[in-house]
Amino acid sequence: MTPPPAGTSLPHGAAVGVVCAHPDDETFGLGAIITAMVATGSHVALLSLTRGEDSTLGAGADLATRRVDELHAAAEALGIGRVVVGEHPDGALTQVPHDRLVDEVCTTLGDVEALLTFDHGGITGHPDHQRATDVSIAAGRQLGIPVLGWALPEPVAARLHEEFGGRFVGRSSTQLDHRIEVDRSRQHRAIGCHASQDNPVPRRRIELQGPDEYLRDLHLPDWHLPD
Ligand SMILES: [Zn+2]
Repeated sequence: MTPPPAGTSLPHGAAVGVVCAHPDDETFGLGAIITAMVATGSHVALLSLTRGEDSTLGAGADLATRRVDELHAAAEALGIGRVVVGEHPDGALTQVPHDRLVDEVCTTLGDVEALLTFDHGGITGHPDHQRATDVSIAAGRQLGIPVLGWALPEPVAARLHEEFGGRFVGRSSTQLDHRIEVDRSRQHRAIGCHASQDNPVPRRRIELQGPDEYLRDLHLPDWHLPD
C-alpha cells in the first residue's frame, strides 16, 4: 500500500484551533504540521488543557510556571498567534467532566474553521492525550467543523516501542488520510524552548519520519465533500 498523496484537503489559509493536553505536545508532536499550516496563511490558536506540572522531567515546585513560559516561547517560534492555557490537573484530565472540557474548547476556539489534535490512542497512550482527542472530536461535532488527528505510521510506532518501550499507537497506510511534507527548522527552534522537557524520544521520532507527517480525519462535518 502506498501512503496517501501529500498535501491533500488540508485547511489552507483557514483559522485552525490546536487542542493539546500538555505544554510541549504542540511542539514535539504537532510543531512541523503547525508551521506548515502557518506557511499556507493559516492563523493558529492553541489551547493547552494543563500546565504540565506532573512531568517527571524538570520536576520542581515551579515546574508549572516554567512550562507555561516555555510554551509561550515555543508558540512564538512556531508562529502560533494565540495561546490559552487551562488549569486542569496534569495527569488527571480524565477526572475533569467531559462536557466541561468540551465547553472550554468551544468557548476558547469557537471562531476556528478546523481543529487539530492527537490521533485516537493519544500517540503515546497517555490518558490525558486521549482525553484531549475525545473532547476535540465532541467540540468539532458541536461547532460543525472538521477535526484532524496527528498520527504515527505503524513502522515508526513499532520502532519507537522497540527502542524505548512504551505503548506508541501507529496506523497502517490505509488509515492515514493526509501526508504533508514539512520543513522542521521552526519545530527544532521550538524544541529548544522546551528545555525542561527535552528527551530523546521525540527527537528520534522526528528523525525516523524525516520530512513527512501524517494526519487522520477524526471528524468530518456533514457538509464536507470528499476530494
Ligand atoms: Zn503530552
